[in-house]
Amino acid sequence: MSDQHRRTTFLNEMGLGPVWLQREPARVREQIEAPVANVLAVSDVAPADGRVSAWAEPENHQSVTTPISLDTANAGEPDIARMDWDQLKTAVSSCTRCNLCRTRTKTVFGVGDQKARWLFIGEGPGRNEDQQGLPFVGPAGKLLDNMMIAMGLKRGENTYIANIVKCRPTDVNKRDRPPEEDEANACMPYLQRQIALIQPTVIIALGKTAALSLLKLDPSTPVSKLRGEVHRHGEIPLIVTYHPAYLLRSLKDKSKAWADLCLAMQVHESSN
Ligand code: SF4
Repeated sequence: MSDQHRRTTFLNEMGLGPVWLQREPARVREQIEAPVANVLAVSDVAPADGRVSAWAEPENHQSVTTPISLDTANAGEPDIARMDWDQLKTAVSSCTRCNLCRTRTKTVFGVGDQKARWLFIGEGPGRNEDQQGLPFVGPAGKLLDNMMIAMGLKRGENTYIANIVKCRPTDVNKRDRPPEEDEANACMPYLQRQIALIQPTVIIALGKTAALSLLKLDPSTPVSKLRGEVHRHGEIPLIVTYHPAYLLRSLKDKSKAWADLCLAMQVHESSN
C-alpha cells in the first residue's frame, strides 16, 4: 500500500478524507472544530506512567508573558554549537551537565529525518523512553504518530522528534516529572544544535515545558495563552499545542490540538 493510499485509508476511516483534500486557509478553518476528536481518539488509552505535569494547568490562568532569563546560549560549552550529528550524539550519550544523568537508564537523543521540514519538540523522556532510548514510544507516542498521520506525515519521514531534556526527570517516588528550569537550560545547547543542523520549516512545541523553554517565557504562562498564533524561535515559525500525554487525559482539548495542527500546516504551506 502506498503512503498516499495508506493516508487516504486512514483519513477515510476517520471520516476526514474529503476534508483534507482542501487546502485553502478558509477551508482549513472550517475543518478545525468537527473532526478532531475522532482523529485524536485513535490511540485513546490512559498513560501507562501516570505522568502528571505542567501541561495540566487550567485554561483560565492569567496571561503572563514577561520574558525570564532562560539562557539557551552555549555558555561553558562552546563546542556544542559546532558539533556534527555524530559528535552531538556522542556528547549526549555521556553527558553530565545536569543531575538527570544520575538516574537515567538511557539518554534519548531524538529520532527522525536529519533534514526534516517538521520538528516536534516535547518535554522529556518518560519511563518507556528512558528504557528504550527513543522519544515518544508509549501511549502518548502512539497518539503523536496518529496526529502526524492525520497531517499527512509519518514518523521518521520529513519529521524529527526531540525533547527539551534528553534524560528522564523523576521525582522522589520515581515518577515522571517535568524538567526543572536549570535542567532545561543545561540541555538546551544540544537541542539548539539539533535545530541548527535540521533547519526545519516549522517547529511544533508539544506542551508547556517545550513552549516556555523555546520561547523563553515566564513559567506561569499557560499553554492556552500561547496557542492560536505563530511564534518564532529565531527565524523559524513555532506553533504551540498540547502535549499528547495531556490530550490522553483531557479529551475536550483534542479539538484545540487539531486547530493547532491546522495552523501549523497553513504556516508550512505558506513557506513553500
Ligand atoms: S538532561 Fe541533557 S544536560 Fe542533563 S545530563 Fe541529560 S543530556 Fe546532559
